[in-house]
Amino acid sequence: MSRVHLLSDTLASQVAAGEVIERPASVVKELVENSIDAHAQAIEIMIRRGGISLIRVTDDGVGMDRDDALLCLERHATSKIRTAADLATIGTLGFRGEALPSIASVARFRLTTREKEAVAGTEVIVSGGKLETARDGGEAPGTQVEVRSLFYNLPARRKFLRSENTETRNIEHQLNLQAIGHPEIAFSFVRDERLVFQLPGTKLLRERIRDLLGSELLARLLEIEPRARAKIQLRGFIGQAGVSRASRAQQFIFVNGRAIESPVVGAALREGYHTALMKGQFPVTFLFIALDPAEVDVNVHPAKREVRFRDPAGVREAVVAAIRRTLESDRHTWQEQFRGPPPTQPPFVRPESSPPLAPEPAFVIAPTEPPVRDQSFAPPNEKRPTLPAHRFQILGVLNKLYVLMENAEGLVLVDQHAAHERILFEELRRRMEEQGVPSQRLLLPQVVSLPPRDAEWIERNLATLQKMGLGVEEFGRHTFKLESLPPFLSGADPARLLHDVIESLKSASQSTSPLRLGEDMIAKTVCRHAVKANDPLRQQEVEKLIRDLLECELPYCCPHGRPTMIQISLGELEKKFGRKP
Ligand code: ADP
Ligand code: MG
Repeated sequence: MSRVHLLSDTLASQVAAGEVIERPASVVKELVENSIDAHAQAIEIMIRRGGISLIRVTDDGVGMDRDDALLCLERHATSKIRTAADLATIGTLGFRGEALPSIASVARFRLTTREKEAVAGTEVIVSGGKLETARDGGEAPGTQVEVRSLFYNLPARRKFLRSENTETRNIEHQLNLQAIGHPEIAFSFVRDERLVFQLPGTKLLRERIRDLLGSELLARLLEIEPRARAKIQLRGFIGQAGVSRASRAQQFIFVNGRAIESPVVGAALREGYHTALMKGQFPVTFLFIALDPAEVDVNVHPAKREVRFRDPAGVREAVVAAIRRTLESDRHTWQEQFRGPPPTQPPFVRPESSPPLAPEPAFVIAPTEPPVRDQSFAPPNEKRPTLPAHRFQILGVLNKLYVLMENAEGLVLVDQHAAHERILFEELRRRMEEQGVPSQRLLLPQVVSLPPRDAEWIERNLATLQKMGLGVEEFGRHTFKLESLPPFLSGADPARLLHDVIESLKSASQSTSPLRLGEDMIAKTVCRHAVKANDPLRQQEVEKLIRDLLECELPYCCPHGRPTMIQISLGELEKKFGRKP
């Protein structure tokens, strides 16, 4: 008895729809992508009740003639590819020809469309995959798709939907992705009859980010400077060191214009932001990666969320390098803020009872020279000598921890412990990269036995450990002799230390350079050795601390990603005091 039979088209579409259309946000994604592929200049999105009751997407794109309007509802009907070779050079967002038939099979679906020059358009209505109406219609040129009662014919599916709020959030996230990915297109979004955003088309990504997410965020972003001849091109904006979120919600990554999720890129971002973000936090990125379409396979996932890179290591390297270089370029911002003369004049006078840190007239602090008197109060016409870099006035220390100072912008608060950590960290890393960390012989060499796997790891990495100032030698099977340590570790228990090092480095070692291996350990060590919250510092020490900090590569956060300095501008103070709206 034969038992095999073909599924009806409707059922087959419903089965396939499960992969493409998981939730209302997937409908929005597919429809908006179709509008983008149709060269729309303006896209309007309207939803009701989390998109479950209604999703309507209207565009002013090329539209379809009557034949296409009917054909596009068949499975595997597409205008975007023809041959297998086209798959290797996909330039559109869609190409699988699955979205419209999938959506039409699991909802009440209405399509109206009209080509620019056509006298009349077409209206097609489908319910649960069954064609109900096809007639002349459609007003403005372009296409409108209305999707009502999503999953009305698939109760099991519908039960899996989350609350309206959650579905709305998903849709909003999806629209954020599309809007950031295509600043040149105008977007408007109406949710439950309320206008959520209306974004004019713009050539500038920065304007789109501002319009969508606000100028406050924009002010904390850095632009990636593109590299002209690179095979993998990167552009966009990333958050300054320390700007982070508890989720990936503002981690926008595009590959050849397509929003993607990618473990490769995610790991590269983490590495690029190493020591610039707190544990468990995610960077804010608007990252556009462009590479030869043949170098990336987008046909991995029905929803095309994931991509496969032919050379993942190359992508990773390019991303890490771009992030590092961009974060470090921001140093100039801080240095700029310390360039002009601090406004306080004449010097602040302290009350008698204040702590010993007496303020002195503003100093100009040169990176290599001893402090010199600020010459900024000289008569304006007098020719001034070129002033060394950093100008600030220390006002005092709050709670034995926060250095209060003034620069041309206003008030600066510095966490002295975090600042010192950053300085020590970079100092040690530099030494490690240049000539290796100096090592001090132990009075009593220690012999440590290790489990076989750890022993193997040590054998393979002896050279790196040496560079990090850990004098380790093999001393029999799975046994090692520890003969010297970096001076700043001399108090540590050698056996514990070796275990710690193995633990923290093993996890980092798979994909990182040997030099990066040491960073985690340095960061930990440095924390123990940096000046503490309660350590009183003399004026000169504080000054040196600030000066050294401003010379760091990433001065604004400690190696654990916490901020070292907070700038409060005079403008912000004026606002707080109600002097300015
Ligand atoms: P795909 O986008 O993968 O080609 P879809 O099912 O999403 O598959 O769409 C099928 C076809 O319908 C598209 O290839 C396109 O030709 C046409 N189409 C869909 N939406 C629009 C639209 N908004 N404007 C013009 N044509 C569209
Ligand atoms: Mg499509």
